[in-house]
Amino acid sequence: MSRIFNFSAGPATLPLPVLEQVQAELLDWRGAGMGVMEMSHRDKEFMSIAADCERDMREVLNIPANYKVLFMQGGATEQFALVPQNLLRGKTSADYIVTGEWGKKAHKEMANHGRANLAATSEASKFTDIPDRAQWKLDPDAAFVHITSNETIHGVEFPDAPDVGSVPLVSDMSSSFASRPLDVSKYGLIYAGAQKNIGPAGLTVVIVRDDLIGQVTPGTFNIHNYKSVFDNDSMLNTPPTFAWYVCGLVFKWIKDQGGLVAIGERNARKAAALYDYLDSQDFYRNPVAKPVRSKMNVPFVLANTELDADFLKGAKAAGLPGLKGHRIVGGMRASIYNAMPEEGVAALISYMKEFARTHG
Ligand code: PMP
Repeated sequence: MSRIFNFSAGPATLPLPVLEQVQAELLDWRGAGMGVMEMSHRDKEFMSIAADCERDMREVLNIPANYKVLFMQGGATEQFALVPQNLLRGKTSADYIVTGEWGKKAHKEMANHGRANLAATSEASKFTDIPDRAQWKLDPDAAFVHITSNETIHGVEFPDAPDVGSVPLVSDMSSSFASRPLDVSKYGLIYAGAQKNIGPAGLTVVIVRDDLIGQVTPGTFNIHNYKSVFDNDSMLNTPPTFAWYVCGLVFKWIKDQGGLVAIGERNARKAAALYDYLDSQDFYRNPVAKPVRSKMNVPFVLANTELDADFLKGAKAAGLPGLKGHRIVGGMRASIYNAMPEEGVAALISYMKEFARTHG
């Protein structure tokens, strides 16, 4: 077996011990005589897998008791619509802080449900910064304020939850979920697709304060109603059982690593190593304002873009695939989620140094 360092933005690399456990349990989950993929979601075996996952997630993220955890499908993209349908609660507008393409998409979807107030955007700087909090044009009557905690394409991350007063703060945390300690109580709702930091594609986690659910926009499908999902233990229909199981193993792995404090410190070291190198020379460059640089997705460009194809080809040959930047911004992007070891980042930096030396 030869494992490479996979820098893909998602679906992304998973912790090796998790994959090994999945492999060991694939044919026979703990004496059940069948694998998790083959189990009914109503079997007591799967019920215990589902409950363990939620318990470990609650413990790792320190989720307060008045927050529900929902295990859904449809990705973060579906949540762009479900958030307004569930959280408008009779109000007519919501505020969006747009710091990249994902926030832009969420904001656009909101326009299908009510007034989508663009309270702030950093589009003028090509999404290389977060607008000053003092400049945000928040509406006190908004149903919620939506942010994208980490913009996966541009590599822009909120250092903390912004203060938006008493209006519920909603965050798309798809690419930074469980990457460092988090104060859930600062949010009304958090959502994240699993396929970056916590498991395979197919599962979407929603964490929502319980007083915010149960007042859906009339006409909302039952399957999209957070309250119905909760009342049915996220099993209103067949859930993505295998992804749910792997997600549970990932949370156990996070606990084994020392929880989010240790994970967050490691992620900070990985990001610092890469940014320090990027800032130390002029062959490569990261355009994002330093205080808001992402610890998960590090985009960079080569001063000579004619070398892009060679850079990617050589990286792939060196066992460092997945570095092509998103088509919207071009260049390169190294996604260094929880499961990317420090050695992977060190190997990338060595490759970048050698490439610069031989092509500079
Ligand atoms: N939001 C963010 C921040 C993302 O990174 C992504 C996926 N890259 C999405 C939303 C869309 O997620 P999905 O494909 O799971 O709908």
